[in-house]
Amino acid sequence: MARGIETKCLHLEEDEGCSNNYGAVSYPIYQTATYAHLGVGKSTGYDYSRLQNPTREHLEKVVAALENGVDALAFSTGMAAITLMMELFSPGDHLIVDADLYGGSIRLFRNVSEKNGITFSSIDCYKEDIESYINASTKAVYIETPTNPMMNVTDIEALGKVAKKHNLLLIVDNTFLSPYFQNPLDLGADIVVHSGTKYLGGHNDTLAGFLVTNREDISEKFRFLIKTTGSGLAPFDSWLILRGIKTLGIRMEKSQQNAAVIAEWLKKQNAVTNVIYPGLPTHPGYEIMKKQARGFGAMLTFQLESREFALAILEKVRMIKFAESLGGVETLITYPTTQTHADVPEEIRERNGITESTLRLSVGIEDVKDLLDELDKVFREIEGELHG
Ligand code: PLP
Repeated sequence: MARGIETKCLHLEEDEGCSNNYGAVSYPIYQTATYAHLGVGKSTGYDYSRLQNPTREHLEKVVAALENGVDALAFSTGMAAITLMMELFSPGDHLIVDADLYGGSIRLFRNVSEKNGITFSSIDCYKEDIESYINASTKAVYIETPTNPMMNVTDIEALGKVAKKHNLLLIVDNTFLSPYFQNPLDLGADIVVHSGTKYLGGHNDTLAGFLVTNREDISEKFRFLIKTTGSGLAPFDSWLILRGIKTLGIRMEKSQQNAAVIAEWLKKQNAVTNVIYPGLPTHPGYEIMKKQARGFGAMLTFQLESREFALAILEKVRMIKFAESLGGVETLITYPTTQTHADVPEEIRERNGITESTLRLSVGIEDVKDLLDELDKVFREIEGELHG
């Protein structure tokens, strides 16, 4: 019988009934660079930790199970995962990518992949006609849903059908919702990307990244590339992410609950001109979210009446941390213009709707009353200062 996702965060079914590792309930950290052999041709299956490490492998199996993939690979960061994924493509290949993406992904595509001869059409995949951008060189479609930071929602299943029809790979960065709320492989994607730094790790203390696939041929290519390029996750960091995943479900539920309350509060503020949260029925992607995800997540973006108001919030918050990153237990507020999306050219940022009065909130698991109290204090102070 298929197990529930919260159980899968805790137990690897295939290991049950084995007395490996002295029965340790917490998987051991194999902090070793290499492995001894009893003779030529007598490898234990583990030769060198760039190639194989039991702690990393255990984590990879847990993540593969969470995303219903045949294989998952753990990387030192999310960007290391995306960089390796780009090695699937060759000079001359063309990719269709979401216009609104994490700034680091845009930087990689524009500054590294283009230099390597790959071309891109950056479009709003949630609303544009993908087929009109496909040409003979097109190999893949790369999306985030919801996107970072503008929270655009794409229908994965519908896009998957178009991708299959044209023999294109569909790659989905699932960082914002985590496998707890959304499983793109079940909806027609071929590859799922994660920044494990975010909800999977969940504690703002470890960097990691993942590629998950349900195709054996892609897994084989990834396995060759990871051992060749050497960006696999270290044993201790693998253990930290394993530990984080154990509480993924309760963290996601609590931070989502808090996010819904904060979205409603923000909507009532005179200084807030727009609240973009896919859990609000007014969000254009609300119905698609209900169809393809099990929740709405805890990321929201909002626009202030002015740049001054936005900057003043960043100056005044204390318990809420002004920091880039997301998906941890602590609530973080981010200024995309100078942080996550600073390297995205201004005209592209503005076209995507990111202005100097746009803020992004990654809602954590604090008592929601304390979050509201701080926001209320900060908003009232700024109103006093700016409007007298
Ligand atoms: N994908 C998304 C949606 C992100 O938000 C980030 C980082 O913020 C990344 C990928 C990159 O992950 P990392 O920072 O772990 O390299």
